[in-house]
Amino acid sequence: MASIGLASFLRRNLAELKEKGLYNTIEPLEGPNGPIIRIVGRDLINLSSNNYLGLATDSRLVEAAVEATRTFGAGSGAVRTINGTLALHAELEEKLAAFKHTEAAVAYQSGFNCNMAAISAVMGAGDAILSDELNHASIIDGCRLTKATVIRYGHSDMDDLRAKAQEARASGKYDKIMVITDGVFSMDGDIAKLPDIVRIAEEFDLITYVDDAHGSGVLGEGAGTVKHFGLSDRIDFQIGTLSKAVGVVGGYVAGSRDLIDWLKVRSRPFLFSTALPPGAVASCIAAIDILRTGKELQERLWANAAYLQQGLRRLGFSTGVTETPITPCIIGGEEETQRFSARLYEEGVYAKAIVFPTVPRGTGRIRNMPTAAHTTEMLDRALAVYEKVGRELKLIG
Ligand code: PMP
Repeated sequence: MASIGLASFLRRNLAELKEKGLYNTIEPLEGPNGPIIRIVGRDLINLSSNNYLGLATDSRLVEAAVEATRTFGAGSGAVRTINGTLALHAELEEKLAAFKHTEAAVAYQSGFNCNMAAISAVMGAGDAILSDELNHASIIDGCRLTKATVIRYGHSDMDDLRAKAQEARASGKYDKIMVITDGVFSMDGDIAKLPDIVRIAEEFDLITYVDDAHGSGVLGEGAGTVKHFGLSDRIDFQIGTLSKAVGVVGGYVAGSRDLIDWLKVRSRPFLFSTALPPGAVASCIAAIDILRTGKELQERLWANAAYLQQGLRRLGFSTGVTETPITPCIIGGEEETQRFSARLYEEGVYAKAIVFPTVPRGTGRIRNMPTAAHTTEMLDRALAVYEKVGRELKLIG
């Protein structure tokens, strides 16, 4: 009987998603996720990856993975606390701490599960979490795993945060109170107001937690949003991912030695999920070495982002409030945005539509992610397609 219920539940809901144009068809890539990708035999300009610095296909990372795989094997064999911790994991964590200017760091299997791990290891019943309303899904789920009271504040609204922090503290109901924010918001590309957040946190004795998935490798000479504002010694949790600018897979927390020691004995994905494989860890080490020694890739990323953003604005498109390489091109309604993205695809540009409910109604956008690996010629071709489709759909004159 249960399977009949499941079957009709799935049929009904899948049909509804398809009807609303919200069903995401996945097209496998037939080669690497570089600036040009191959799908169904066609080469497309790729403006949708998080491979900010082009490191996902960098030969130095590939060679490091091959060598480590030959030496240590394909898998790590166990969870970190049994015997899955290889010398490579320890080396990566030391390098991450140095990279983030903290005492210590701990790596997880993904950025997503890092937020599952870290928030619930510290926060519980009798605590409160102040969370920006536009925080990433993994933060929202990480908060849900705790028994803490979650209080959302308006996006980057510092008056609202201050008022809610004051109220929470004055209520006397909570023991620990945490403020948690993305460092860079992934849909609009705006940067969190960390100096204000730190001031409010110090006034009301809040724990500070910054998920810098989109800032690491991009801002603060590569070290991220916290370093960008010179706040490395005033943020308790610095979360990063190893899947975006670093180009591989994994996540990490950087912070005080005591915090990291605590996470290593209390955070559940560290205790109960198998450690990152040797090849991935070795690639991450190679990537961190590249990030720490050279600024060339970051400079290319920012130059490419400025070129694309200026080009779109010159054509008459709005790129919203972005302050980073994340380049939204605001289209409007859901259908219109989907149609725009589909036309880009037909014309050889892969750039995904982001629509309600991921972003507010009427602000559907194409989210472009230029990388250090794009050439000016690729960006010019993409802009020419934007111009053609924009005119055709009467979005620009
Ligand atoms: N946090 C933020 C802010 C993100 O944007 C993402 C990636 N979408 C994640 C966490 C998850 O990272 P990962 O892909 O490494 O799991």
